[in-house]
Amino acid sequence: MIAIYMEHKNGKLKKHSLELLTFAKNAFEGEITAFSVGKEVNYQESFNYGADHFVLLFTENENIHEEGIANAIKSFVKRKEFKIFIFPASNTGRDIAARVSAFLDLPLLQDIVEFKKENDNLLFKRPIVAGKAYVWEKINTERFAISVRPNVFPPEENKKEGKFEKIDVSIEEKIKLIDIKEKEEGEIDVAEAEIIVSGGRGVGGPDGFKPLKELAKVLGAAVGASRAAVDAGWIDHSHQVGQTGKTVSPKLYIACGISGALQHLAGMRTSKVIVAINKDPNAQIFEIADYGIVSDLFEIVPALTEEIKKLKGDT
Ligand SMILES: Cc1cc2nc3c(=O)[nH]c(=O)nc-3n(C[C@H](O)[C@H](O)[C@H](O)COP(=O)(O)OP(=O)(O)OC[C@H]3O[C@@H](n4cnc5c(N)ncnc54)[C@H](O)[C@@H]3O)c2cc1C
Repeated sequence: MIAIYMEHKNGKLKKHSLELLTFAKNAFEGEITAFSVGKEVNYQESFNYGADHFVLLFTENENIHEEGIANAIKSFVKRKEFKIFIFPASNTGRDIAARVSAFLDLPLLQDIVEFKKENDNLLFKRPIVAGKAYVWEKINTERFAISVRPNVFPPEENKKEGKFEKIDVSIEEKIKLIDIKEKEEGEIDVAEAEIIVSGGRGVGGPDGFKPLKELAKVLGAAVGASRAAVDAGWIDHSHQVGQTGKTVSPKLYIACGISGALQHLAGMRTSKVIVAINKDPNAQIFEIADYGIVSDLFEIVPALTEEIKKLKGDT
């Protein structure tokens, strides 16, 4: 049996967690039990995407640190029937995956981007060396854990008459979460976005993000950033893409004024289509870009926004 840890926000299951249900159906055989920790979760959504069971590990406490979540699910994941544990490769998911597999003494592969069956073996592909190379790996034990990169396996509807179960859990917290700072209303999280418009040092300052935000708005995209822009204090760290930021895999990544340092590429090189706008024709970002525009981003980005508005009939 397969156990899938699902993240939710205010009770709504996250898209990357629904993707895991489709991934599990395609990669493995067996019943799927989805589980979350929280007070109320819209679990019906998991049945629409292929969960056979949904277990809510119930706690009144809604703001819990990953350490507390991992403690809360300890006794549940000990159930012998679970052979395969799947987590989203989000920041939280990876953290909990590591804690749970250490606790259960399971092998763990993080950040799976592809799988294939070869001579009865299931092989998993994941990035290594900050995304510069990939490895194919096989797990030799019957019981194991993996985390799967968001936005790689699109969720497909697969309606089931699932069963719901609620189990009370107590949260042991050595680390207490004090506060969560919500983003501005309407902002899309880069880790969840299908389109990202990202800015680097080339935007020149906090105001330089304005045209990028306008483009993001017309595209329904999230705004990403390089570490240089974040370290300069031009945009919040939650937007940072890369080795020490978020790993993203959107359908479209538009890099504006970003040179393409290895640590940035580590977080976005699996994007389906990469567009780079940079004044320097020798910028490293052009090596991985599908489309490159050698020009000033302050000319190109507003022009793109206008064109897209026209196409959408917004002007
Ligand atoms: C341990 C470690 C972890 C790191 N983690 C991360 C990480 O998670 N994410 C990350 O991004 N970086 C990370 N870095 C930093 C990384 O090495 C680079 O320093 C950083 O990515 C550079 O950001 P940038 O491309 O915005 O800036 P720069 O390298 O300075 O590039 C700016 C680019 O903008 C172009 N430009 C300037 N003006 C314009 C204009 N008007 N129009 C168009 N183009 C213009 C320039 O030609 C240049 O190519 C990390 C570094 C270390 C050592």
